[in-house]
Amino acid sequence: MFELLKTDTQTQARLGRLTTARGVVDTPVFMPVGTQASVKALDPRELDEMNAQIILGNTYHLNLRPGLEIVRAAGGLHKFMNWNKPILTDSGGYQVFSLAKIRKIKPHGVEFRSHIDGAPLFLGPKEAMEIQRALGSDIAMVFDECPPHDAPAHEQRHAVERTIRWARECREQPRSEGQQVFGIVQGGANAALREECARALVEMEFDGYAIGGVSVGEPQAEMFKAVEATAPHLPAHKARYAMGLGTPAQMIELVARGVDMFDCVLPTRVARNGTAFTRRGAFGLKGAGYKADFGPIEEGCDCFACKRFTRAYLRHLLNVNEILGLRMLSVHNTHLFLRIMAEARAHLADGTFGDFYSEFIRNYVPSKKILDAAKAANNER
Ligand SMILES: [Zn+2]
Repeated sequence: MFELLKTDTQTQARLGRLTTARGVVDTPVFMPVGTQASVKALDPRELDEMNAQIILGNTYHLNLRPGLEIVRAAGGLHKFMNWNKPILTDSGGYQVFSLAKIRKIKPHGVEFRSHIDGAPLFLGPKEAMEIQRALGSDIAMVFDECPPHDAPAHEQRHAVERTIRWARECREQPRSEGQQVFGIVQGGANAALREECARALVEMEFDGYAIGGVSVGEPQAEMFKAVEATAPHLPAHKARYAMGLGTPAQMIELVARGVDMFDCVLPTRVARNGTAFTRRGAFGLKGAGYKADFGPIEEGCDCFACKRFTRAYLRHLLNVNEILGLRMLSVHNTHLFLRIMAEARAHLADGTFGDFYSEFIRNYVPSKKILDAAKAANNER
């Protein structure tokens, strides 16, 4: 299902092809996030036009609203939202532990109260897989426990033990036709724990492996270390997915560390605050400096927003709260994230990724505000 086409000679970057029930995904890939069955502010036609290959949906949120009966009656998540390319669904584990009011952790899942109306609910490996089967996603994720990055050592250990046990239960559940299941490696900042978790999951032979417990509030250096402590223990012939990451520079850094798949709310989330991403970093378009700037958001960008509108016009729309402003910024930002991964793939195919990587990182100026937003991007997925 995953073909490793080429490995870079200077870095650990990989060019690959993931075949799913609804089509082929070329990797490295960025997956726009459609938590509530919609990539915020974008319609599926726009995503299609910017060559989005696969998007995310979320088990926890979709199970609460609109509820499973509605998605089932619609014929699954693809039909419900009219997106016929691949969808990956998160298992809801992260949201149960971060959003919901937990009542009790049981051997086979978690008793919690809905963050919306306080209704008592239960989610565990069996339930998470059943929901993902009803959603009909092409890639389902196992139900895991993701503790905060600063959780004490014994909590990290318990989370890994539960994650391994629950992964095994997920593995045994029925799936929708052609549905793949990915395991999730936890272990926080503890390299030995990450290795232990990775080894146990690899033994279960999942279709792919995610690096979880990143983008949960930890500093960037710690996030890179967690990925570096995990990737070497994952099989070369399976896809690797870093959950909830990252900025353009972080994605390129992680591609160089052997990661194939990314998802992040950043492009659409920061767009709503008037922030634009470029290949050189991010900037706030609402600033007075752009009042009479009649250039595009980013010179050379071929997205719909840059081809048609100026910074001055979009700044005006943002400042008077016109919806078109944040829509166009979401178009540009999402297009850029997808484009950067397409460029990484092209350079990998040409054998020039090493130069592309060092030049990209040299030109990119990270901003503290964006890094802080990226640190907890998982919280909004
Ligand atoms: Zn653009």
